[in-house]
Amino acid sequence: MTTPPVCNYEGSDYQSSFWDKGGREYEDRTEAIALQRLLPKSGHLLLELGAGAGRNTPRYLGFDRVVLLDYSRTQLEQAQQRLGKSDKYIYVAADVYRLPFITGLFDAATMIRVLHHMADAPKALGQVKNVLEAGGVFILEFANKRNLKAIVRYLLGRQQWSPFTWEPVEFAKLNFDFHPKAVGNWLKDLGFTIEKTLTLSHFRVGLLKRIMPTRILVFLDSLFQWTGAWWQFTPSVFVRAKAEGGRRKGEIPVSLFSFFKCPDCEHSPLTEKKGYLECSNCRKKWGVKDGIFDFREPIAN
Ligand SMILES: [Zn+2]
Repeated sequence: MTTPPVCNYEGSDYQSSFWDKGGREYEDRTEAIALQRLLPKSGHLLLELGAGAGRNTPRYLGFDRVVLLDYSRTQLEQAQQRLGKSDKYIYVAADVYRLPFITGLFDAATMIRVLHHMADAPKALGQVKNVLEAGGVFILEFANKRNLKAIVRYLLGRQQWSPFTWEPVEFAKLNFDFHPKAVGNWLKDLGFTIEKTLTLSHFRVGLLKRIMPTRILVFLDSLFQWTGAWWQFTPSVFVRAKAEGGRRKGEIPVSLFSFFKCPDCEHSPLTEKKGYLECSNCRKKWGVKDGIFDFREPIAN
């Protein structure tokens, strides 16, 4: 099956180089505030798409269980070390374009700093819609091409691409910025209703970050986030969307193994075997090793 290319963080020290030592405390703390404002207070089962090393996962406290999904197994291993192997967390290595979950499984999903790497964003968003139940909440962060810096650069003739047109811009390989209207339209076409929009990183400017105390910038950003309801000119935008239609509430299967479907032929349930899950339809085997379900490639017979 051919799917769009995937940005793979396998073996990456992203958590340590970008977050822990990368001077991104401001971005991290403003995201925590946005999540608090957008997340439901409680819930049963949340899907975290592109969970990475689990930086945001402890912020989903109100949910009984969280499925951490990432394409990179090493990222999930880092998340396991951070969060532990409790029943609360389920680790899944899979391709966002071929989600291995049954329809309507989740009551919430988050995708933060992930759409940024999607060559086919509508396709990925469609997969998310499919695994959300009716009324399910989707919290999506995307990188905004129509940000103030891009506008100024464009007007000064220092940037070729227009921040005002709706098509995504790939400014580096597998790194995309999106127009807020385009993202809004994709969500609407898929059957989502946008309930809230917050803008983040109003002060993502090197000089400001150096001279102003982080807590002041975080405080100011938290006030400005609400202006996202009216206009979006920051590099990062969060939306909370509600899934309309789909499977009814309250039908989450009891057994963990009945969460899954075969990502190749979509058959479910899969049969639990020692060290793998087997699809009784196409006979593919999907590995389960050290607490990580792996749906990227079937294991060889
Ligand atoms: Zn199958």
